[in-house]
Amino acid sequence: MVRNIIIIGSGPAGLTAAIYASRANLNPLVVEGSQPGGQLTITTQVENYPGFPDGIMGPQLMMDMKRQAERLGTEFVNGDVISVNLSKRPFVILVGEENNRYEARALIIAVGASARLLNLESERRLMGKGVSVCATCDGFFFKGQEVMVIGGGDTALEEAILLTKFARKVTVIHRRDRLRATKALQDKAFKNEKMDFIWNSVVEDILGVEEDKVTGIRLRNVETLEITEKGCDGVFIAIGHTPNTRLFNGQIELDDKGYIITRDGMKTSVPGVFAAGDVQDHVYRQAVTAAGTGCMAAIDAERFIESESIYL
Ligand code: NAP
Repeated sequence: MVRNIIIIGSGPAGLTAAIYASRANLNPLVVEGSQPGGQLTITTQVENYPGFPDGIMGPQLMMDMKRQAERLGTEFVNGDVISVNLSKRPFVILVGEENNRYEARALIIAVGASARLLNLESERRLMGKGVSVCATCDGFFFKGQEVMVIGGGDTALEEAILLTKFARKVTVIHRRDRLRATKALQDKAFKNEKMDFIWNSVVEDILGVEEDKVTGIRLRNVETLEITEKGCDGVFIAIGHTPNTRLFNGQIELDDKGYIITRDGMKTSVPGVFAAGDVQDHVYRQAVTAAGTGCMAAIDAERFIESESIYL
């Protein structure tokens, strides 16, 4: 059976697209991916999503969006997309280890972005053994301990502030002498007595591979080139994100950072393929902008299907 619309990804972009496509009677199928609900499921309180005057927990927001899409008729399938063929229509996608095959007249790609890593061997070996990319998920394990947070953006400061609820001391390590994070977060961080900063420094290595748990960190000061070692129990990496576009590489136009290029609404370089959310946005990257572009992608996909007279 060829479907009207398949949406790949189930964060705010994918689920908003699903809500709109359902309301347009397009019977969308959402392939949820390995992290159903996307990045908001690993955050805590969301204070800036309109409509929630007291804030809402990220996982709750995503559960509510999914319930809304389901109520309107969206179908969901678990699992990751293994491959896509965008060279001809209907588009063919294979899902999960069983390579379940689905076909669609239009495709909305809303697969988001993933946390970037430092690419150190020690980081790989100690992931889950003191190295983490998610304070919300792992902060609890560092009760009364000392942790480092790498990065100088909003994510780094949010993670660091959250970690002060558990850890004895939280040190932010930034490669420059000025933070990239918004002023409000900076003010909050500088006031926090449990927080400390190390400037102009990059991580040379994470220590503890032999012990099979993080014991410290080796830093290089980029100005003085001095190498220092600091003891710690945890290292949280918060240095930005990489778009999850590996599957589409070579099939669709990407920018030099690997983000899908959208034009004229949410159209991609392949007619019938639309993109929404963080996979095509490295500037705003907010839940509300992801949801907005999800809505746009669904409307664009509906118009595409109508214009091709292939509405089921
Ligand atoms: P980001 O703004 O890109 O910041 C990444 C940080 O990591 C920068 O300080 C960068 O340093 C540093 N960095 C990058 N690569 C590095 C490396 N290899 N080694 C060491 N440091 C490295 O990413 P983000 O903080 O994840 O934020 C992404 C977007 O989401 C932003 O638009 C942000 O406003 C938004 N966001 C918003 C909220 C909120 O509204 N509450 C919360 C989280 C995120 P440089 O500064 O030197 O480039």
